[in-house]
This record gives sequence, structure tokens and C-alpha cells, in this order.
Amino acid sequence: MPERKDSDSRKLLLRLREILAAPGGGQDRLDQITHHIADSMRTEVCSIYLFRDAETLELWATEGLKPESVHKTRLRLGEGLVGRVARSGRHVNTADAPSEPGFRYMPETGEEVYSSFLGVPVQRVGEKLGVLVVQSRDARQFSDDEVYGLEVVAMVLAEMAELGAFQSAQLDGTPLQHRFPTMIRGGTAQEGVAEGRVWLHEPRVVVTNPVGEDPQKEKARLTEAVAMLRMKVDSMLADPEMNSGDGAEVMETYRMFAHSRSWLRRMEEAIDRGLSAEAAVEKEQSQARARLESASDHYLRDRLHDLDDLANRLLRILTGQGKDTGAEMPEDPILVARNIGPAELLDYGRKLRGVVLEEGSVGSHATVVARALSIPLVIHAERITTEALNGDSILVDGDMGVVHLRPEDTVAKAFRDKMAMQAEAQKRYAGLRDLPATAKCGTTIQLYMNAGLMADLPSLQNSGAEGVGLFRTELQFLARTRVPRRGELAGLYAKVLENAQGKPVMFRTLDIGSDKVLPYMKPQDEPNPAMGWRAIRVGLDKRGVLRMQLQALIRASVGRPLYVMFPFVTEMGEYEEAHRLLMEQMAREQRLGHELPSDVRVGAMLETPSLAFAPRKFFEMCDFISVGGNDLKQFFFAADRENERVRRRYDSLNTTFIALLEQILQRCHEARVPVSFCGEDAGRPIEAVTFAALGFRRLSMRPASIGPIKHLIRRVDLSELRRVIDDARDLGETNLRHTVTDWLARQ
Ligand code: PEP
Ligand code: MG
Repeated sequence: MPERKDSDSRKLLLRLREILAAPGGGQDRLDQITHHIADSMRTEVCSIYLFRDAETLELWATEGLKPESVHKTRLRLGEGLVGRVARSGRHVNTADAPSEPGFRYMPETGEEVYSSFLGVPVQRVGEKLGVLVVQSRDARQFSDDEVYGLEVVAMVLAEMAELGAFQSAQLDGTPLQHRFPTMIRGGTAQEGVAEGRVWLHEPRVVVTNPVGEDPQKEKARLTEAVAMLRMKVDSMLADPEMNSGDGAEVMETYRMFAHSRSWLRRMEEAIDRGLSAEAAVEKEQSQARARLESASDHYLRDRLHDLDDLANRLLRILTGQGKDTGAEMPEDPILVARNIGPAELLDYGRKLRGVVLEEGSVGSHATVVARALSIPLVIHAERITTEALNGDSILVDGDMGVVHLRPEDTVAKAFRDKMAMQAEAQKRYAGLRDLPATAKCGTTIQLYMNAGLMADLPSLQNSGAEGVGLFRTELQFLARTRVPRRGELAGLYAKVLENAQGKPVMFRTLDIGSDKVLPYMKPQDEPNPAMGWRAIRVGLDKRGVLRMQLQALIRASVGRPLYVMFPFVTEMGEYEEAHRLLMEQMAREQRLGHELPSDVRVGAMLETPSLAFAPRKFFEMCDFISVGGNDLKQFFFAADRENERVRRRYDSLNTTFIALLEQILQRCHEARVPVSFCGEDAGRPIEAVTFAALGFRRLSMRPASIGPIKHLIRRVDLSELRRVIDDARDLGETNLRHTVTDWLARQ
């Protein structure tokens, strides 16, 4: 009996393939298809509903329902049984449809006489295209086998839709799912706006032959591809770099899936029903994606992601389609990816206008690189890799964390107006480049920039920054597969100093650990890495790398002043130890006959509340102090800077945090040590003027903020703002944001 089912199913699929190959319009094809499916399933009705827009399904073709309801009957996503199938991505099978919860009767279709209902989603790797339905008069419950058969047919329909089989004159103007405008709300990781065309980091695999003629041949192809996949996974497992810490766990899961008999068996069953090997893999992948969408458990989601990744690899083996599809990168490319590593992003470099990621995080390596390259980055853009096609027009609003895919003209126009306004403002700021940030009261604030790449250095001259207040040295380590050599680093730091043309550059020693894990370092399985073994803690425990970095910095600075800053100092002893290590390296370099820097200034980053209470001696020992507000704030409020749920919950202008900053200013003032603020807040207008009014005389920020902040400071009286702030606190205000915003508005 199953044999007969298989051959029926294959016959139907081959018939569908003939329809696809024959000339004809999309509507005509769909009409024929519904007829053949109803015939093969022995049902009175077969209907195809396709998405008209992201929320609406439309009856596109039917055998059995009233013909006049075609293109008239519409349902919202989630509405009725059809809407339920579309929303959940799962089939609905009932012998008594009217009694089913959520049933909605559409009188114009004449469906009241049909009792049984089977609906399956038409979807392709997570992309929902529509719903395929069969109905019959007799109260019949469809068997598992019939459900499976209809799912296989739906898979072929999805592939046909992807190939454009249903587009024709009749369908023009009512595009299929991924042809209409879509707005996706994500999170902002790097501000800025950009317009361009989608460039998929991992282009979708195109399956041109969803139907397989000879099941034996298709199974042999699948077996061969799976064998190759297993070999690849095994060789990854043999690689010590991949096979350590968390990597080992992931690799083990890959091996488990790659060797899974049930996975292979399910794909072979689909081939028996008439699918090609590729379509069988996609059918499995689509189901895993649908489960992924509804899974809330982290562990399960990770495993489904692994399975998805493995299916992609298998598809690429089967189709021979690699990352390089021969497509040409469009002008103004906007990179769209699920996630991307720092080295890959650096490879694309400044070619990119923007980046949109489905995953990512504000502190990820990719984010660090996007910041250094000053390209807008939106993260957590759900479904973007499923929705976007190579070459689609796209607008990225990194300020709001919003992406418009295939935008309508009105949206694009408003967006261009915003871009033009920003460009206009930039011109205005350029005129201020050589002027000081002197406020009306006569106080001058030094504006420095944050950097981390050679690519940042042109901004030093263009923005008018007085120096680099924070040079993050992690990137040179993150972007490599091994520890960089001392000579390489020295050469790079020397280039940085040359490009700085005498302006000071404060090099921060390696801040790894926490979210910044080096690819070649064994990841530590820490429950709370931000408070774990990171930055100077690693440097002091494993001194080799820190020593090497300090030597490289000394060699790069021959005859020039060297500024070194130690990250994440928590207590005085750590700073003393790091300072001693630096001095030892100076002595060593001298012993070896190397020329030394003309001057060495050593500083600490104040990023933990504890350091604000360090002994006075600590402040006196430092040549300068830089407040790392990003970390300081997360530890002060006990709110993870990486966690979207709590990240914005506490405000830097809360008077408790302001009191901490004042205490730091006071301690630095007493010890006569210069202090700056280098967290992201320094580049935000309201925060920057507030910090300046409190007493910070140096702010270090991303280059793009220097113009706007200078423009603002030059127009205000900081001593007046100080009085306004004090008055507000006397009146019991617990947050200064309104006070400062209102005051600025009155200026
Ligand atoms: C900070 O913590 O404020 C800082 C500037 O360092 P990072 O953002 O690199 O941790
Ligand atoms: Mg920090």
C-alpha cells in the first residue's frame, strides 16, 4: 500500500513539473495545479491561498469552491483555519472543520458543505508564502500519510513560487511574499543612516529541480552528499582550534546531526514521494525553521540553529552553490547576514554602506568593527535573511534600529530627507573643525576620538579631534586566527602614531575576555564573563601577551611620547603591578639597546565603582584617568550592557550616577590628575554637556560625534547649566534628563 502512495505522489509531482515547464501564465498554472491535487487526493476541493501582503492571505486558485471567490476571499494572518496554518507554520487536519476552534466560514466560497479540512503551509526555509488546502464533504480524517503527501506537494509549490512560476500578467501588482515592502525593527549597534542594495553574506541556495524523476538516483546523490558533509564535520572536529571549549560542544552536536539516521531517513522518505534530494533537504530545513520560530528554550533554539546550518552546508554540497555565486556586488552594498565575524567584516571594509544582522549584539566583535568603520549597524533584525533578496533596495536607520526593505516611495523620500539633513549638518560641523570647543562661559572642553583600526585614523584630521582618547587594541587580535607577532604589532602601532601626526594616542592594552573572546584562545566557561577573567586580570595572570604588547608599544614610539592605559582596573594593586610590568619592559628594551619613547605617560581606565574609592595614592600614581562609562554604568546599576531587556533601563543622568561621577572628578582634582570620559555617552549631546558642566574637561567619543558636540558646547554657558543642575537636585529631582533637555531647548 505505501508503495502505491509513493507512486501516486511521484506521478502528481511529475505532473506539476510538466505544468511548470509548459508555457502559460501563473494563474493558469495554479488553476491546473489545484485540479490535479484534488484529483490525486480524491477530495472535492483544493485551494491555494497566497500572501497578498505580510498580514493578508488571498484565495488565489481553487478547484471546488465558487470560482467568483478567487481573488475576493481574504483572511488576516491567524484568522480562520487557513490563517492559523499560516501563522503557526503547522498543518491543521480535522474531520469536522466547523467545530474546530477558530473556524471562520466564508459564505462567498460555498464551503459550508465541506466537513473535512486539511491545510498545510507553503513555506520555503522559514519564508511563509501561503497555505495549501484540501476539503471534502465526508467527515474524513486525513491519514498521516496523506498529510505528509500534501506537505511534499506544498514544498514543490514553494520552490515553484521561488522560481517565479506563478508570476504573470494576472498577478502583476499583487506581488508574492518577498516582493513587497517590509519594515523590520531591530536594535541599534552603530548609529548612522544609509541607503543601498542588499548584499547577502550567505546567498540563498536556489533549487531549480524540486522534483526528482528517479528516487534511487536522488537517494544516491543524497547519500554521497551526506558522506561528504560527515567528512567535513569530522575534519572540523579534528581541528584543535575548533575543538576546544564551547566549540567542541557545537562540533559534537554537528557530528550527532550529520550522523543522525532519522534525519537521513526523513529525507529519503521525501525523495520516495517524488522530491529531488535538494528539495528533501529543504523540506526538513523548513520544518526545523518553523519549530525554531516557536521555540523559546535557548538550548533548543541553539540546536535548531545548528541543524539549520548543517542543512545549508548539505544544500551547498548538493547544488554546488558556494558563497561565491558569481553575482556582482551592487553599488552601495548593505550587508545582510545572520551573523558575521570581525575578520570577515573587515574584509568587506569601507565598501559597505551599512550592515544588518539577524543576531549580533551591541558588544560583539562585528559591532566593534562596524563602529571603527563608522557604518550603521542594525542588530536583531528578525527574519531579514529570509525576507531579503540580493539586490533588493534597503534603507538602514542605525539611529532608530529600523530597516526598510523594498521601501515604498514615500518612505524612501522621507529617509532621503533625513540623510540630506544629516549631510547638511556635517557640512556645518566641518566649518568648526579648527575651532576650539569653547563654551560661552569661556571654558574649553578637549574633544578626543575613540579608535581601533588604521581605517579610523583619517577621521583624526577630518573631525578636528585633538587626539585619540581611547585606542582599543583588541581588533588586531580579534581579526586574526593566531596571536599577532610583536614585530607586526609594533609596525602597526608605529603607523598609527605616524598618521596621528603628533596628536596624542592613548593606547589601551588588550581588553579581552568577557564578550571579546579571541578565536585562538580557549574560551573560559564562565557564568558571567563581563565580571569574569578579562582585561587586566588576564594580562596579569598570563603575562606573556601583555609583555609582548607593551614591548611593541615601546618600539613603535621611539623618540615620541607613549601613552598607555590599562583597562578594567579594580584595585590599586593591579595598577601598581601593571605599571611595574611596563617599567620592566622599558628597562629591558634599553638593555637591548633599543631607543626609548621620548616620554611615557601611564593611565588607568576607571570602569568599576570600586576604583572610585581607591586610596588617594592610586590617583596620585596615575598620569591620567579615563572613565570607561560603558562598563562603569553596567556595574554601578548592575545592568548588563549586552542585555536588551535592561540595557536602557537605567539612565546615565540619574543623579546617583552623576554623584559617582562627581566623586571621581573630586578625587582626580585633589590628586591633580587629568581625567576624561571615554564611554559612548561622551558622544551623546545631553550627556556630553552635562558631563562638561560637572567638570569633565576632556571627552573622547566616536569621530562622527565631535562636530555635533562641539557645535553644541560653543552655544551654551556651562556655568549656568551647572547652576540649573544644582537647583534641580536641591528640588529633589532624581534624574537630570528633563532639566537639561528643557534648558537646552530654551537656549
Ligand atoms: C567603557 O567601558 O566605557 C569603554 C570605553 O570600554 P569598552 O566599551 O571597550 O569596554
Ligand atoms: Mg570597558
